[in-house]
Amino acid sequence: MSKTIAVIRGDGIGPEIMAATLKVLDALDCGFDYEFVEAGMVALEKQSDLLPKATLESIAKHGVALKGPLTTPIGKGFSSLNVALRRHFDLYANVRPAISFPGTQARYENIDIITVRENTEGAYLQEGQLVSQDGEIAQSLVRNTRHGASRIVRHAFELAVRKNRKKVTAVHKANIIKTASGLFLDVAREVAKEYPQIAFNEMIVDNTCMQLVMNPWQFDVIVTTNLFGDILSDLCAGLVGGLGLAPGANIGKDAAIFEAVHGSAPDIAGKNLADPCALLLAAAEMLDHLGMVEKGTRIRSAIRATLEARDRVTPDLGGSGTTETFADALVERLRT
Ligand code: ATP
Repeated sequence: MSKTIAVIRGDGIGPEIMAATLKVLDALDCGFDYEFVEAGMVALEKQSDLLPKATLESIAKHGVALKGPLTTPIGKGFSSLNVALRRHFDLYANVRPAISFPGTQARYENIDIITVRENTEGAYLQEGQLVSQDGEIAQSLVRNTRHGASRIVRHAFELAVRKNRKKVTAVHKANIIKTASGLFLDVAREVAKEYPQIAFNEMIVDNTCMQLVMNPWQFDVIVTTNLFGDILSDLCAGLVGGLGLAPGANIGKDAAIFEAVHGSAPDIAGKNLADPCALLLAAAEMLDHLGMVEKGTRIRSAIRATLEARDRVTPDLGGSGTTETFADALVERLRT
């Protein structure tokens, strides 16, 4: 039975990296149909709406979306389109794998860390943000809930089980932020007991930053609250050479959106120079999510082999290839 995916090509380099990604997916015979929908600047220009209803309906109907980078124009009602999508679909889990690939500028090798970040609460609430009238005092609300902590920690453990991972580390600051971070840690300890087959440890966030730089190989799956996850997931991307190879998944109960972490790169848009790897790796995460784990693994292996051979890779990876030739090199590897 075929599965339909909602596809948002996105802004800037989005259409180019999406074309490359779909070409690779098609070479894998995934049996997907695509429903192309719009968001961002393209949607604003064509439909006078940054996030059209038809786009939301398509994602809701198919439950899975592959999304290119979106530009949110300043002063158009949304602070961020990506945040709006996460809120609309209650995509509570932001999953960010950081995997070492050959032929990159990374400082470390053999890194394989997944950060699972709570995406809907913590320090990123819309309400409770106050600035005093004289501008002297600014105050923000941090709220974690038992429900929110429990579902994100459970998500991390379920992912660990599914991906054959050995350890989950809960990152917190419960020694100082005793209320909000304390609740998260209490819940993490409780949930961890349900998964005796997975090792569990807890680490204070500042120490985690140091440990990630000094000995990143000790980490496997990290689960944490919204603000810490935002910071740590970029730190982990930095360990493996930056955002060029950083996929992201935003997962909720009824919908999941897979994307590259980088932006729309307007400086190279339309030049056939964009590196499609991050979106391709997001597509690999999507395949895992849909239970097509073997096909996801094949995408990662093809990327690894192509980078190792430095075969037609894009200029950001030190090559002289184009987005299209890079995709061709991957497709050839998948077919052999
Ligand atoms: P946005 O406003 O959408 O966030 P931006 O240019 O501020 O766009 P990024 O899109 O993340 O932020 O780009 C930062 C830099 O990294 C740019 O120089 C861009 O060309 C480069 N870059 C980002 N993504 C890619 C990619 N896939 N391939 C090659 N270079 C990229």
